[in-house]
Amino acid sequence: MKIGVLALQGDYEAHIKAIEAAAERAVPSQTASDGIVPFEVRSLQDLDKADAMIIPGGESTVMGSLLIRFGFLDAFRDRILNGMPVFGTCAGLILLSRQIERFSQPGLGVLDVTVRRNAYGTQVDSFRAPLQVRFEGDGAERVETMEGVFIRAPKIVQTGPNVSVLASLHGDPVLVQQGNILGATFHPELVASARIHDYFLGFVKTSV
Ligand code: GLN
Repeated sequence: MKIGVLALQGDYEAHIKAIEAAAERAVPSQTASDGIVPFEVRSLQDLDKADAMIIPGGESTVMGSLLIRFGFLDAFRDRILNGMPVFGTCAGLILLSRQIERFSQPGLGVLDVTVRRNAYGTQVDSFRAPLQVRFEGDGAERVETMEGVFIRAPKIVQTGPNVSVLASLHGDPVLVQQGNILGATFHPELVASARIHDYFLGFVKTSV
């Protein structure tokens, strides 16, 4: 299973490490080459090899422009619309969103949410907060507490009917899922126990 990490800009290396760690937890007896392999995606040719994709945090305007300049924004959108699992964190979530308040910027527009960029203001633009995450799957539901790292984070101000909220902070959704699309306003790749990566790999496995 090849997990592509969009590596045009942002903290993609942290996601590669988080996937490697999650892969070890998932299949301790296998080597990476037998199981889950993360790799960096910078072109359409790379994208074609990916079974699933991660879009890291960074600067959503820069990533959107680079996706256009390198010519694979539309192909990426088509893959997602055709069911490829994708996980976006922070700027990655902004790129996935259908609507971005006040800004007109290139994006994928596949996740039925409205986001407000840099919504926590300059005083508290970066902070940590404990989160209760509700994981669904195998017909069961499990709640885990984990630390959320928010860095100039967006807020999800509206969600469509097909979007489930897996975690909230002060009433605002911070982790959402719409079928094959998972989005976080925070940075799970920056905490040691990246349970959300395990969850993502779990649903990648059932869909490839
Ligand atoms: N503020 C950034 C943006 O709007 C996102 C910040 C992040 O990814 N940590 O794109």
